[in-house]
Amino acid sequence: QADVVILGAGQAGLQAALSLREEGFAGTIQMIGDEPVLPYQRPPLSKGFLLGAVTEDALVLRPQAMLDKTDIRLAAGVAATRIDRASRHVLLADGRSCGYGHLVIATGSRVRRWTGQGGELAGVATLRTLADARTLGALLEAAGDVVVIGAGFIGLEFAAVAAKRGKQVHVVEAADRVMARAVTPAISAFFRERHEIAGVQFRFGAAIEAIVGPQGRVTGVALAGGETLPADLVLVGIGGIANAEIAAEAGLAVDNGIVVDALMQTADPAVSAIGDCCNHPNPFAGGRMRLESVQNAIDQGRVVAARLAGKPQPYHAVPWFWSDQGDLKLQMAGLTTGCDAQVTIGDRDAARFSLLAFRAGQLVGVESVNRPGDNMLARRILALPAPPTYGEAEAAGFDLKALSA
Ligand code: FAD
Repeated sequence: QADVVILGAGQAGLQAALSLREEGFAGTIQMIGDEPVLPYQRPPLSKGFLLGAVTEDALVLRPQAMLDKTDIRLAAGVAATRIDRASRHVLLADGRSCGYGHLVIATGSRVRRWTGQGGELAGVATLRTLADARTLGALLEAAGDVVVIGAGFIGLEFAAVAAKRGKQVHVVEAADRVMARAVTPAISAFFRERHEIAGVQFRFGAAIEAIVGPQGRVTGVALAGGETLPADLVLVGIGGIANAEIAAEAGLAVDNGIVVDALMQTADPAVSAIGDCCNHPNPFAGGRMRLESVQNAIDQGRVVAARLAGKPQPYHAVPWFWSDQGDLKLQMAGLTTGCDAQVTIGDRDAARFSLLAFRAGQLVGVESVNRPGDNMLARRILALPAPPTYGEAEAAGFDLKALSA
């Protein structure tokens, strides 16, 4: 029995626990996580970890001693199998159960699997967990030819790592550009160019017939049209799915994530949901959405903690995200989808520039390459009650510093 039970011991869940203590919450906090490790950060898994620059210890978000000190209890390596809302209990896979006063669901998301032919072959991998990253690291070490399915963030980050480690890399993408769902075409074009310079080869508009391998081990990826790309390692990076089944089975509303309000509460006042697993109203999207980002997980962990500590503050954070691909740091503030005018500042050739995106005459997002200062300013500007119009930005010479003042 605990006053607050947090289901899922990842970025969002841990943040909720830490923020509860920071808010002065004195009740018992019990985290339940199915991974047999302390809560850790995932971003380095597709970057520094595979390059050997980040160790497993460095991934850990808080050492055990810190959890003990703040009296945050963690049951690690055990999955929750069911939520009984009537009796306010969570049932665990090892037969135990845990009662709650309030339940915070922070179960994250999982990778979408390749369901076509060949998905089960040895050498076909996905990347979500530390365990996945260990497996992928060993496969990468031995591989010569790498195929990445999906030119999203994780696929491209991995492609950059593999190319840097001297592998032959192909990226296969159904859309006609990289990161098509998240960034403007201009940024897609820039990243494509840079990846190609690093040796990565792309196949856009591609349909995959099958992942092939005659002896139970992958040897290639066959594309519609006849081409077969050689592969002894295939990384499937085709997006994520919310871990929301446990909520749906408990009768909570799920629609591309567990449905919550701006305070991260479900329709059951004793249950909240945060992070990758939830679908929340987002003022910057003009509607509901599910976000998979560290910043979102942290902000929502804080929102739920403040509410449980009796200081409710609705979620109203400018969405932002980063992706390190080779020596390029891409940072995005706001949401640029549907933008109809763009202005570039800085030096594209030197790979230090930002793109200001406007929709219906108003600044809605800024995408920066190796300009972290611009990202900081953009987040401040987008948080203003009235972000600048195109005319105002033009009058200020598109100078972010001036616009943030
Ligand atoms: P998670 O951190 O995934 O935590 C959820 C936890 O709940 C997991 O441990 C899961 O196993 C556990 N769980 C699920 N179901 C149960 C159950 N029934 N019982 C018990 N435990 C359960 N974001 C960025 O902003 N920038 C980046 O550069 C970036 N890079 C990334 C690179 C990789 C390889 C990956 C995988 C993600 C990356 N992200 C990045 C996304 C970011 O890591 C996630 O958005 C963030 O971890 C979400 O936090 P969360 O707590 O919602 O989910």
